[in-house]
Amino acid sequence: MTTATVSLRDMRMVYGTGARRVLALDGITVDFQPATFTAIMGPSGSGKSTLLHCAAGLDRPTEGRVIIAGIDLDSLDETRLTRLRRDRIGFVFQEFNLVSSLTAEQNVALPARLAGRRPSTAEITGALAEVGLADRAGHRPSELSGGQQQRIAIARALFNRPAVLFADEPTGALDSRASRQVLDLLRKLVNEHGQTVVMVTHDPLAAVTADQIVVLADGRLVDRLTGVTAESIVGRLAALEPTC
Ligand code: ADP
Repeated sequence: MTTATVSLRDMRMVYGTGARRVLALDGITVDFQPATFTAIMGPSGSGKSTLLHCAAGLDRPTEGRVIIAGIDLDSLDETRLTRLRRDRIGFVFQEFNLVSSLTAEQNVALPARLAGRRPSTAEITGALAEVGLADRAGHRPSELSGGQQQRIAIARALFNRPAVLFADEPTGALDSRASRQVLDLLRKLVNEHGQTVVMVTHDPLAAVTADQIVVLADGRLVDRLTGVTAESIVGRLAALEPTC
């Protein structure tokens, strides 16, 4: 029995067949411990998004196991997997994916409403305050900056108090100042609220905010880095890029 929030065991993912067959993940085993912040890095096509989507139950791996908060996702039918994703897993995307017709507070409350709950105003205001945007409750996404939209998306992803927050390039569409705010927020959630965060990023400056960096190449886990500088990450990744 593992104490990890997320355990991936011998995870393999194959797309397509015959000449179109792609081995996107080739035996990934890794644990994400409670209240830790992990960055996943690697060259383009190394399997980062596939890993994140399988770990979050958005895709099912071809082989191997995904265990979240003690629950083996393989044991769940589609209905129960959907419920687990809704209740136990938060996900944020590079492009925020807020509902444009809804206000910030309506976006934040959406997962709870989809789960059949009617959250109180105090609960919603508290969630907005947590990301520093209590004064933007009535704004629609088009009235917010990119960084503010991403912070609303984080508040929404955390509203059901998930065991783990997955983030796919959460700063990829942001300028450096907004990126810093989002990264500081993720760090605070880990340090002060014990949130477990797993983030895919291309940005070494973002990656050093994490406690550990898991490096993928060709669908395999090739490195685990802690206490490194952004410069040394650049060097490590350059060594993994194909030389053609
Ligand atoms: P990364 O996020 O590191 O760029 P991906 O996980 O997106 O890598 O992709 C890993 C490999 O799997 C790549 O070779 C990619 O082309 C392939 N791949 C990803 N998604 C699909 C898909 N839906 N169908 C076929 N091949 C895919």
